[in-house]
Amino acid sequence: MKYISLLGATGSIGMQTLDVIRNHSEAYRLIAFSSGRNMDETRKIIKEFKPKLVSVQNKDDCKRLEAEFDSSISFSYGEESLVEVAVYEKADILVNAVLGSVGLFPTLQAIKAKKTIAIANKETLVTAGHLVMEAARENDVELLPVDSEHSAIFQALQGENPKNIEKLILTASGGSFRDRTRNELKEVTVEEALNHPNWSMGAKITIDSATMMNKGLEVIEAHWLFDIPFEQIEVLLHRESIIHSMVEFHDSSVIAQLGTPDMRVPIQYALTYPDRFPFPKASKLNLAQIGKLHFQEMDMDRFYCLKLAYQAGVAGGTMPTVLNAANEAAVSGFLKGKIKFLQIEELIEKALSRHNRIKHPDLSTIQDVDKETRSYIDSLL
Ligand code: NDP
Ligand code: MG
Repeated sequence: MKYISLLGATGSIGMQTLDVIRNHSEAYRLIAFSSGRNMDETRKIIKEFKPKLVSVQNKDDCKRLEAEFDSSISFSYGEESLVEVAVYEKADILVNAVLGSVGLFPTLQAIKAKKTIAIANKETLVTAGHLVMEAARENDVELLPVDSEHSAIFQALQGENPKNIEKLILTASGGSFRDRTRNELKEVTVEEALNHPNWSMGAKITIDSATMMNKGLEVIEAHWLFDIPFEQIEVLLHRESIIHSMVEFHDSSVIAQLGTPDMRVPIQYALTYPDRFPFPKASKLNLAQIGKLHFQEMDMDRFYCLKLAYQAGVAGGTMPTVLNAANEAAVSGFLKGKIKFLQIEELIEKALSRHNRIKHPDLSTIQDVDKETRSYIDSLL
């Protein structure tokens, strides 16, 4: 039996992780989890999985839950309580599926506590990949990718010597607006942006997919996870989301990982790695039925956020921190109806161009830059 602690249990990835645990209750047990403000779902999870520790965002919610459930379950609240879940002593694996750079500190603490980490929370790797990877190396901790592209690359690299990599090829579905021109993007609504053609995901990442910032964050995520320079990471438009990503080697061979777009597959692989468990038949790939797959070069001017992400990634230091924080704040503004779709990239570009890069930022510098960038964007919203 492996014990799982889960950050962000009430989210899209969190709930799908619970489904994987549910499907393999002979092998996995949820021991601790965090949620944000969704108390209906939090209650359901507590009743079904009977964990030992639950963290929520607010004190009032925490007190209410404490009064409702018996004392065998501990409750805590606030950002510090994410750390309690992340380092929960009995847990073998931490699944980090919280949203945003709030996941950074808990991740670093979990690494120090030598937890194996299945990481979905890409913002953590974008904002401070150097700190996370350095800590993982020092503590000999494994970071297992959950993001489908990175899981695909990780799978393609099994048994391979990383020295033989020519390039990583990340596939991109194109998001909700892949067939619209830039001009048509000016007046798109939140509702349209939230309507992703292939994947059902949380609101923030669905907007990130529409702006293509998601792929930009993933390029930076891949740079850190696989220790590959940016010029060897390519993005390819592939509308069907069947090939989840590929690795090209020096001998010109390309290894790809394919599957139906179902996040439970990479989540499950991160939990069972290096083993594989059965998966419900309904999810199986039927290539004869699909018939054709399409590929197209990425247009960096059409998808300007991807260009900004490459630039920030190459510049390094605190630039990716600014990119991520500005994006989180701008997307939140867009979701609240405060700005238009194309203003997301405008605001991010503004934040990047006014920032004086700090070359080797430590944790407190990262946290300061993150906070300062968010308040700058908030002042513009
Ligand atoms: P959701 O918005 O669906 O879920 C986010 C989770 O984090 C919820 O449990 C939410 O709680 C919690 N949360 C949000 N903010 C805070 C906070 N400040 N403090 C504590 N808890 C918080 O996001 P997703 O599941 O879509 O994404 C999670 C991560 O996984 C992101 O980094 C995303 O990029 C990545 N990812 C997601 C994919 C997907 O298919 N969804 C695919 C690949 C990567 P509550 O809802 O209770 O308020
Ligand atoms: Mg992805």
